[in-house]
Amino acid sequence: MGDYRPDGSEALGAHVPIGTTGNELGSSSRQSSVLYHHLRQPPLNIVGGRGSWLITDSGQEILDATCGAAVACLGHSDKRVHDAIMEQLQKFPYCYSMFFTNNAAEELSKILVDSTEGVMSRAYVVSSGTEAVEASLKMAVQYFMEMSPKQPQRVNFIARKQSYHGNTLGSLSVGHHLGRRALYEKILAKNVHHVSQCYPYREMRDEESMDTYVARLAQELEDKFQELGPDTVCAFVAETVTGATLGCVPALPGYLKAMKEVCQKHGALLILDEVMCGMGRTGTLHAWEQEGVTPDLQTVAKGLGGGYAPIAALLVNRRVVDTLSQGSGAFSHSQTYQGHPVSCAAACKVQKIIRDDHLLANVREMGEYLGQLLHETFDKYAHVGDIRGRGLFWAIEFVLDKETKQAYPPSQAVAWTIHKTALEPEYSVSVLPGSGGIDGVNGDHICFAPPYNCTRDEIHMIVHRAFMAVRKVLGE
Ligand code: PLP
Repeated sequence: MGDYRPDGSEALGAHVPIGTTGNELGSSSRQSSVLYHHLRQPPLNIVGGRGSWLITDSGQEILDATCGAAVACLGHSDKRVHDAIMEQLQKFPYCYSMFFTNNAAEELSKILVDSTEGVMSRAYVVSSGTEAVEASLKMAVQYFMEMSPKQPQRVNFIARKQSYHGNTLGSLSVGHHLGRRALYEKILAKNVHHVSQCYPYREMRDEESMDTYVARLAQELEDKFQELGPDTVCAFVAETVTGATLGCVPALPGYLKAMKEVCQKHGALLILDEVMCGMGRTGTLHAWEQEGVTPDLQTVAKGLGGGYAPIAALLVNRRVVDTLSQGSGAFSHSQTYQGHPVSCAAACKVQKIIRDDHLLANVREMGEYLGQLLHETFDKYAHVGDIRGRGLFWAIEFVLDKETKQAYPPSQAVAWTIHKTALEPEYSVSVLPGSGGIDGVNGDHICFAPPYNCTRDEIHMIVHRAFMAVRKVLGE
């Protein structure tokens, strides 16, 4: 595993060439009081945004092919959302959810619950994906503490390798991004256990079919239940489409169904983390709709508010809600900004625009086009190992050698270098870099997650510009 470096190269090991590649994007001399991720180099300063484009303080127009980190699903500066935010601000900005509810939180929760067609019965609205994940873990524990008879021994969580669920201690514990965990291993929760990802490109064996690979993964989960004691497991936690660590890996058909069957057999809950892949990113509002499974608890975040306000939610199914209602009558967890009226008003508007502008259809159509163009452009390229995706959520994994699938050494920081190069004025496209693939540290990829309302021309520009940047970094 590579060294952790607090300069932002956590997933990459040592020697990220910050300050050494000659492409520092003109911002490194600027003094900043903000504690950015990269302490030694402030990032580009964005002063404007319109549709799929961001504008820097030097006037550079950057095509935002990633919506930040799969967030800005409507693109930037939609006046309809601005107006909704202003309208709420003019009424009142904040009330404390322990004492009061508000119309915006009520409306958003109803939109969310209704969107699951009866699967979920309540929404718990917070401000970030991490908070939603934390809430899901606590909710699962409380469920077993309040059912009749109680099951207080259910304290183990099973999650997956190469997954990402957030950066606080609880969410980092269920996640398995080794780079991000490295400094904190000793204080992470010991009751979280990890099984393999569903990662066919690297982990499906040559002799295996999809079905036998899925069966092997389900058996591994079953074995983990048996090892821990089946009635000690509280929940299995998984991203429906793996995002930040692997750069978009949709589950194989039947995988999540097989995993849920194991959970059900042993009475454990299924928590699906759709912080990144949910709310339309993969072409359906909830990514699990394409899997033939329903979760007990589900987190959503990025596409919920589209970046217009910090917002996330935990969706809770009826069984869990009823148990708490008949038990203590309260979720033993609350936060100051829960159900924030302005964030909720923004998210309500974002969700109505997705519905009224038929954006899921555009996600599916443009997503197909993006996938096709990525294959046409990159398939033949020597250093592309895998191209994978669903909806408007795609990734390219880079390799030194296509045959052996040998990854680039972390010291080359390939994905981050491509990201930085792509931001140079010549290319001006923002791609999302990552390198937690193979073992949580190695395995470089870039991710594409353009706005749901992007056009064919923009998709074309994204792929073309990204290809030029990749070639500059990795050669012809
Ligand atoms: N869960 C998943 C699947 C994520 O991708 C992320 C962030 O990328 C999180 C949780 C954490 O969300 P946030 O950064 O909003 O706290």
